[in-house]
Amino acid sequence: MARRQVVIVGSGFGALFAARNLSRSDVDITIISKTNNHLFQPLLYQVATSILSEGEVAPCTREVLRWHKNVTVLLGLVEGFDLANKTVSWRYLNEEQVTSYDTLIVAAGAGQSYFGNDHFAEHAPGLKTVDDALEIRARILQAFEAAELTEDPEKIARLLTFVVVGAGPTGVELAERCEWALEIAHSRPHGRGAGRADPGVGRRHDPSGFSSNRSQAVANHLDGCRAPGAATVWAEARQEGSAEVGTNRC
Ligand SMILES: Cc1cc2nc3c(=O)[nH]c(=O)nc-3n(C[C@H](O)[C@H](O)[C@H](O)COP(=O)(O)OP(=O)(O)OC[C@H]3O[C@@H](n4cnc5c(N)ncnc54)[C@H](O)[C@@H]3O)c2cc1C
Repeated sequence: MARRQVVIVGSGFGALFAARNLSRSDVDITIISKTNNHLFQPLLYQVATSILSEGEVAPCTREVLRWHKNVTVLLGLVEGFDLANKTVSWRYLNEEQVTSYDTLIVAAGAGQSYFGNDHFAEHAPGLKTVDDALEIRARILQAFEAAELTEDPEKIARLLTFVVVGAGPTGVELAERCEWALEIAHSRPHGRGAGRADPGVGRRHDPSGFSSNRSQAVANHLDGCRAPGAATVWAEARQEGSAEVGTNRC
């Protein structure tokens, strides 16, 4: 009797856990994912702030699953499912592919949400992928480099003001790392530009709907970081379609 064919879409945590657990069963498993690595998303903020390189948070999926002999990993973009005929349509470059399955697991993750403000994406990248992290890293480093080239304190302050929208774990961790980078810049005794930056230029902005107490808690946490005084936390009720910054400054 033919072995049961399991197709898993994605190579994130969901896909990996499913593959590892099912690999002990008498089945063949095919992973189809648009990236050939397994991204450890919780460490993306460290890539965005130059603490880690992208390879350190995104090991090759085949390497991760190398001991599971009944798992095959394929790189491709899944474009559709035929549930009646139990097939997955996917593409690698220009090559269209169709793979049959007995059991299908879709672990394709979640996308960035701007809560109705998708036009923000151009100016404020999300932090879901390696590409997002590298984009944020480039923008932060470019801001520091540009600050090195100017004597104008207002321009330095503008360049070295980082606004983080959202004060969940990712927002707070990202803000903390920005603050750390500012701390290093401030500590350079003879530095140009960034080295002369006003310690008050780093700000955090949290329009996530927290109460003033919650904002104060976030501010307290951040003030325990390395550059106290370089942080401002704002809170306001979220307004869809609005970019206004709000009240409750801590
Ligand atoms: C910045 C950040 C920090 C986080 N920190 C924490 C934390 O500290 N603690 C915690 O518990 N959780 C944390 N999370 C949440 C956690 O990382 C996610 O819940 C988890 O990664 C989701 O796993 P997943 O497998 O469902 O999706 P993902 O990891 O997003 O994987 C989705 C997979 O599907 C693939 N894919 C998507 N569409 C297609 C397609 N059409 N064709 C082929 N492949 C496709 C992608 O390439 C990817 O491999 C964090 C998330 C982020 C973004």
